Amino acid sequence: MKADDITQRDWNTATQLVRGGTERSQFNETSEAIFMNSGYVYATAEEAENSFNGTLERFVYSRFRNPTVAMFEKRLALIEGAEECRGMASGMAAVYAALACQLSAGDRLVASRALFGSCHYICAELLPRFGVKTELVDGRDLNAWKKALSTKTNVVFLESPSNPGLEVTDIPAVCKLAHEAGAIVVVDNVFATPLLQQPLKMGADVVVYSATKHIDGQGRCLGGAVLGTKDFVVDKLTPFMRHTGPSLSPFNAWVLLKGLETLELRMQKHCENAAKVAAVLETQNALSRLLYPGLKSHPQHALAMSQMSAGGNVIAFELSGGKPAAFGFLNALRTIDISNNLGDSKSLICHPATTTHQRLKPEERAEVGITDGFIRLSVGLEDVRDIIDDLQQALRA
Ligand SMILES: *Cc1c(COP(=O)(O)O)cnc(C)c1O
Repeated sequence: MKADDITQRDWNTATQLVRGGTERSQFNETSEAIFMNSGYVYATAEEAENSFNGTLERFVYSRFRNPTVAMFEKRLALIEGAEECRGMASGMAAVYAALACQLSAGDRLVASRALFGSCHYICAELLPRFGVKTELVDGRDLNAWKKALSTKTNVVFLESPSNPGLEVTDIPAVCKLAHEAGAIVVVDNVFATPLLQQPLKMGADVVVYSATKHIDGQGRCLGGAVLGTKDFVVDKLTPFMRHTGPSLSPFNAWVLLKGLETLELRMQKHCENAAKVAAVLETQNALSRLLYPGLKSHPQHALAMSQMSAGGNVIAFELSGGKPAAFGFLNALRTIDISNNLGDSKSLICHPATTTHQRLKPEERAEVGITDGFIRLSVGLEDVRDIIDDLQQALRA
């Protein structure tokens, strides 16, 4: 007999990651099937009519829903403890949909200023073109949030830990302030993944993911997701999605379902490797700054560890010789790849000032600590001794 919804919600996370949301076709396949179709057929014209007027719930068009995508959405919703989830074509499609579906001209958006480059573009440039008033604050500073949220606000958006500076926001405290200001809180939880941090349990209303990162985690495809209450997803997100089309491909949803099955194992190893690499980097003289939420030396270590069950797999550091030192170091690496992706099984490294955050003005980069010597390392699943050896030989070079 198939596990019902209550049974699936009662499963422990590792079981949900492997089995949550699985629906079998008439062929009783073991692995989830890929429903690579755009449309669906109706037995009668009346059935089509009822599917569109809402009296009949069924698949209508894959821009709206798709069976493979629905399995991914159900699985992620179970893990996150969310009522509903919608898969999206990419992390940026998810961020934009989660914000644009609920903001109107004249509304106020307060966001932490340490954001992924494209999230910064949406908040600081794109949405203001449509009349949204955006204020960016130092996400680490509760007084800055308090001040910004003393005015009525519609939406709060934050990333914790932030990309790439690993700044941590006190999620429960900001949610409380935001709710008092009348705002809906949207958290970009990419760096922590649903396994290390659950923002909904800390008071957030909506969580967004780039599933491209750890959820796939093997460099194969783009994907994203938005999770929240049934009311939010049905009333706000679904109409936006149906009519603007940021839908997730069924094939990518299938890749992401397979990614979820190994997410817990991979995250354990990612975090274990990153902690070891961070501990070694901490002893290197060439580094003028090192940031890893799992290390006591992180300025917000205690807060990070009260919100996250482990430090994650991203480490940031600064070389004292500026851009020439950073480029020299990156070019000397033999195992770790230069790439702007993260959360991958392969260790990847990038220079944010000239890649992911090159759009920002120099003063905006300075505010979030992205100096010319600043480097972001996503620690992979290789034998950690090989990652450490590579970093040490490149630091010597
Ligand atoms: C990568 C990333 C995104 C964007 O995701 P894509 O899948 O690349 O569109 C958004 N937020 C954060 C924090 C990210 O790291």
